Amino acid sequence: MAACAASARGLATHKKPQQVVIAGGGVIGCATAYFLAKEHGIGPTIVDRKSIAAAASGNAGGFLARDWNDGSPTQEMTHRSFDLHATLAEDLKKYGATDYRRLTCVAVGVDGRTAVQKPGGKKLENVDWADSAGVMGMRPMGDESTIAQVHPRKLCDAFVAAAKDLAGASVVEGCASGLREEDGRVTGLELSDGTCIEADAVVLCMGPWSHALGRPKTEKLGLRGDSDYSGWGLQNCPLVVGTKYHAVLLQAPRVLSQSVFFQGLGDPEVYPRPDGEVYVTGSPDPADIVRDLPGETEVRDEVCDQLVAKMNVLSSELKDAPINHKQACHLPSAVDGVPVVGELRSGAYVGYGHGCWGILLAPATGEALANQIATGESPFLDLGRFDPRRF
Ligand SMILES: Cc1cc2nc3c(=O)[nH]c(=O)nc-3n(C[C@H](O)[C@H](O)[C@H](O)COP(=O)(O)OP(=O)(O)OC[C@H]3O[C@@H](n4cnc5c(N)ncnc54)[C@H](O)[C@@H]3O)c2cc1C
Repeated sequence: MAACAASARGLATHKKPQQVVIAGGGVIGCATAYFLAKEHGIGPTIVDRKSIAAAASGNAGGFLARDWNDGSPTQEMTHRSFDLHATLAEDLKKYGATDYRRLTCVAVGVDGRTAVQKPGGKKLENVDWADSAGVMGMRPMGDESTIAQVHPRKLCDAFVAAAKDLAGASVVEGCASGLREEDGRVTGLELSDGTCIEADAVVLCMGPWSHALGRPKTEKLGLRGDSDYSGWGLQNCPLVVGTKYHAVLLQAPRVLSQSVFFQGLGDPEVYPRPDGEVYVTGSPDPADIVRDLPGETEVRDEVCDQLVAKMNVLSSELKDAPINHKQACHLPSAVDGVPVVGELRSGAYVGYGHGCWGILLAPATGEALANQIATGESPFLDLGRFDPRRF
């Protein structure tokens, strides 16, 4: 009862912001902009120091699974988000997000040594593009009712195009460097060039760089070639680490439609796309503070070559397939592995730390943040478990 009264008091005092600035144009920032525009008529300014989807959000696989997070803190967020993706597939088609599809997924256990010694030949039962050499077993991981995929970069671009169209959102290039606060309330986002964008609500969605704004003045992060992140202002913003992954995009001779998580040979994950590209990732580096600047993560050729060599062993159909792209990026994780989403202090909101599921969880996160910013509450998703003040 007391909690209800407090919540009602909170709602009564919540004022819908007029100007919202989002720092970070990854999938979380873009989704938040979209829901602010669509549900609340707010056209936010997105500030990114590189460009929209410059980091993980433009380089991810785009694989979505409805029930793999069951029993975890993100179960409800996952269900809500998976379902929202299906709605978005229709709503965002006219803005260029045309690649949503349902598909099947299996896990395949492989004895690497046998596979290497006897490559090629017989096809694996139920996966029409993989070979059977070295396969020790396989397990269905989902079908069209629980597995789907999107093209992450196209999704981000479509979120932004829709937010511009629906409520006049804008995108500016700039490096967020601090919050301007007056009388205990946020009044703007400061940029490293000394300017400030006025706002009555600021959202920090800077992926593995998000906590840089929250570190005490004295703690230098020492980002490579950069002194902008010396840190000030917003203390107690929880730490986030990044896990660097490489990926290669191969061009298959036809459209494939089964995702496979191999176990063995470095556990490559393979996500074929409806345009005939096949996304292959695996063999992560250890998690660490990210010191690369967004969009400038070094790509180590030897790691990409290993991913290609594994596919040559696992699939005679993909053997020697043209390599369209080699890339690397960081997936952001909070220190307790649970996304950090919600109000940090009056007028300051955060959304980051979604680990390997940021593309999947972006719609529910963006919807919840937009609702909280505009109305003071999140009716479709309890944000309690994700509270940034939990640390
Ligand atoms: C190899 C790989 C494959 C993945 N595959 C999948 C998948 O299949 N399915 C899935 O659900 N998830 C997947 N993920 C996870 C997903 O990509 C991430 O969780 C998600 O993209 C994180 O989004 P974000 O918006 O939090 O951060 P980011 O994408 O990192 O975006 C952060 C943005 O903030 C900007 N920025 C940083 N500092 C500043 C600053 N000071 N001022 C202004 N802007 C700044 C950056 O330029 C960047 O654009 C994958 C991740 C990786 C690495």
